[in-house]
Amino acid sequence: MSNITFEELGLSSATLKALTEMGFTQPSPIQAQAIPELLLGKDVIGQAQTGTGKTAAFGIPLAEGIDVSNKAIQALVLCPTRELAVQVNNELKKLLQFHTKLNTLAVYGGESIDKQFRALKRGVQIIVGTPGRVQDHLNRGTIQLDNLKMLVLDEADEMLDMGFREDIEAILEHAPRGIQTIFFSATMPKPILELTKKYQNDPVFVKMEAKELTMPSIEQIYYEVNRNDKFDLLQIVIELHQLNLMLVFCNTKRMCDELTEKLQAAGLGAEALHGDLSQMQRDRVMQKFRGGTANILVATDVAARGIDVKGVDAVINYDIPQETEQYVHRIGRTGRAGTTGKSFTFVDKRERGKLKDIERYTKATVAKHELPSGKEIMDLQRQKFLEEIRQVLDNEKLDPYTSLLETLETEGYDYASIAAALTKKVLAKNEGRMKNLQLEKPSAGRQRSERGERGERSERSPRGERSERGERASFAGKGKGASLDGDVARLFFNLGKKAKVSPSDFLGAITGETGLPGKKVGDIDIYDKFTFVDVPAEDAEKIIRIMSRRKIKGKSVNVELAAN
Ligand code: ADP
Ligand code: MG
Repeated sequence: MSNITFEELGLSSATLKALTEMGFTQPSPIQAQAIPELLLGKDVIGQAQTGTGKTAAFGIPLAEGIDVSNKAIQALVLCPTRELAVQVNNELKKLLQFHTKLNTLAVYGGESIDKQFRALKRGVQIIVGTPGRVQDHLNRGTIQLDNLKMLVLDEADEMLDMGFREDIEAILEHAPRGIQTIFFSATMPKPILELTKKYQNDPVFVKMEAKELTMPSIEQIYYEVNRNDKFDLLQIVIELHQLNLMLVFCNTKRMCDELTEKLQAAGLGAEALHGDLSQMQRDRVMQKFRGGTANILVATDVAARGIDVKGVDAVINYDIPQETEQYVHRIGRTGRAGTTGKSFTFVDKRERGKLKDIERYTKATVAKHELPSGKEIMDLQRQKFLEEIRQVLDNEKLDPYTSLLETLETEGYDYASIAAALTKKVLAKNEGRMKNLQLEKPSAGRQRSERGERGERSERSPRGERSERGERASFAGKGKGASLDGDVARLFFNLGKKAKVSPSDFLGAITGETGLPGKKVGDIDIYDKFTFVDVPAEDAEKIIRIMSRRKIKGKSVNVELAAN
């Protein structure tokens, strides 16, 4: 936080009162930098990460700049998604709560345009909308920008990535000349700078320096884990750290769905949020998450961008982000505004380089936590077992079972021994499972990290070592293949457990059909409906070509390059 106060910014009493009500005691750095410039009427281009308080940075000047005696639209805020439009609109409403006769409206696709039209007719001064829908209203004449004074692009880079450039430009062209423009973007790629050049007038550039990126209120942790163990680790992390509300990030929509399905099957309240869902489905998911009926939101980066939910106690990078910047966006969802949060990143042995990049970029240390030991996991299970028994004892009807056990008692066994025997039987099964679940240290990569510490930054091993290690590698059960060095491609097959396929089916089919030696087939991860197989990148195309025309266990397959 900065040293300046909201009072020193010379804000109206209505705004100051609202800020107090909202619990904002001091401007965030981006607010301290942007608000004075905006109050002077200057154009601003701001670069800041998620969670830095951008909404109020433009919302406060909006509140101060609107003429309430005029019922025409005076400010327009463009956001990339419906969720963000709704969220920004809600934040603005809070900021404007003591400005009477000031109305805002969110307009977005997926909601009836007539309903929005009726609301517009009542007179609103601030519109928060997605570019497509705003453009739609402009074309119909239901939104007029003749009196517009301020135009905000929120998450501008994201809007361009989503293909809204044409709509945005059309809207900017529609707006009167010389209005105040405010562009906020997490990154500053060329197209943003082009928009600035074309539509902004001598803009002031405000930026959060990289050193301010990492939020000290977030405890950043990582685990080194085999990919096959991630799901088990996730469940253990949730238990060990007593997590309540969490955001879990995957890199692909498919992974989101698959993980959500597995979590639900394990009895956890998980929901997936990604771009393939309809607006209605997305709304329902967010409602469940906000309302606490689903405590795990499994999301892709795009779907979760900018979303602010209070009380998220952990962000879990189930997949390490592809881009370092995404890491900051992701973990910014927890530890917001004065609360503390945790982030957990699951790092596969091949992804250590990415983690290093993240640390370099954020100038933060991500603390390595050792995988919980078999004993810790076992203790946890035993505690849970006792808890379950307590539940049954307290809440359930046991009569039929009591009479069953009486038989044993008449044979001379006492109840303590019977109970112990039952416990043994139940736990043995469970603990057998836990043993399998015991997280293996990702060993193949250990040497690499030591080399890395001696200053060699390359993720890849020198050529000579590759074949040597390849030969030593064996198929160590549990669906694991050889440990591959060099460039690895991950293939996606549309067959999984439901099709009753095993790792050896894939191994056999791939080696048999393509002539690839077994040692060149890496990890084989089988999920319910699909499977990932690692192969050397140089062989990927050939394998896809050949396998697409073959069958595995009598079933035709669809093979493609996986997204990560
Ligand atoms: P961004 O758009 O940069 O991702 P938001 O505007 O969504 O960030 O703000 C993130 C969170 O921080 C919100 O919950 C918001 O209410 C809160 N917040 C913003 N500014 C302040 C402030 N000055 N003091 C306390 N909390 C703030
Ligand atoms: Mg925002």
